[in-house]
Amino acid sequence: MEEWERWAESRGEQAFRAKQVFQWLHQKRAQSFEEMTNLSKALRAKLAEEFEVGVLETVLVQKSKRDGTRKYLFGLEDGNRIESVYMPYRDWNAVCISSQAGCGMGCGFCASTIGGLKRSLTAGEMLGQVYEIAGEVPKVSSVVVMGSGEPLHNLENLLKFIRIITSPEGMNLSGRGITVSTCGIVPKIRELAEEKLPINLAVSLHAADQEKREMLMPVAREYPLDQLMDACRDYFSKTGRRLTFEYALISGVNDSRDDAVRLCELLHGINCYVNLIPMNPVRESRFRGPGRQKAEEFRDQLEKRGLSVAIRREMGADIDGACGQLRARLR
Ligand code: SAH
Repeated sequence: MEEWERWAESRGEQAFRAKQVFQWLHQKRAQSFEEMTNLSKALRAKLAEEFEVGVLETVLVQKSKRDGTRKYLFGLEDGNRIESVYMPYRDWNAVCISSQAGCGMGCGFCASTIGGLKRSLTAGEMLGQVYEIAGEVPKVSSVVVMGSGEPLHNLENLLKFIRIITSPEGMNLSGRGITVSTCGIVPKIRELAEEKLPINLAVSLHAADQEKREMLMPVAREYPLDQLMDACRDYFSKTGRRLTFEYALISGVNDSRDDAVRLCELLHGINCYVNLIPMNPVRESRFRGPGRQKAEEFRDQLEKRGLSVAIRREMGADIDGACGQLRARLR
């Protein structure tokens, strides 16, 4: 909004025009300046001369017959492709968006990182994913930045995205409906804490000891577990927001009783939820998920020791639902 206000001022337009343009773009999700019928023809022409309304190209939509999950493959202007997912739950609908094209983090179980990082997305490209999907489904009640990419390596655009999507003149989404997931970029977690946003932060842990975590996630070498946990404690004390720890259960790697006990010790005294994700099989990876029973045993071990824990419902398993799978398959 401030950018449009500055634009209006510099072009000698009245200040309320900024709000009108912003509402057309972010509330009514106009796809062209032509649609902005409460602006004069001359103003619309001026806007069209200076700007372009960015619209993502829908390359492919896969719809799950099992649970209504939809996976979108979008094309960007420079030819890069990104994935987003729509997940209908019983009383709310979530959209999962990508924050980067590709990913540079190199996690051994994740399809997004195959092929490396292409580039970070603009705030507009992040909004575009939500807007395209919002135009096709009943209502978007939450947005999770858990698709491809590491959002905290694109913090400036992420913050702009959050400001716009929570704007009362835009989609007016509540901060509580937004979740950002990070692999644990310690200095950026500290930076985000300073923003004191009412959003949810999810941290991908996947192992409770340093050695195992390094094996699964190369980023752990740069930001070891003790530093990460300190940053998480600090995040909670600054924002008062309870953290979520994601833990992808991988058969024979991190799903033993010992792993569960170690996880409880690591999280002792931290106000958090644990989200267990049975690993979604990725063709290119040797890792596999545990069976249902093993996942439930792991959950029970945590619960018994007082942690708030849930096994994430597997959705879209029939449609390449996991991060980066669709893009990797169509490359
Ligand atoms: N880079 C961020 C956000 C994207 S990944 C992060 O690491 O958190 C979103 C979540 O999906 C992460 O917890 C990631 O580790 C997990 N994930 C990736 N591939 C997976 C797979 N094949 N099965 C289960 N979870 C996976």
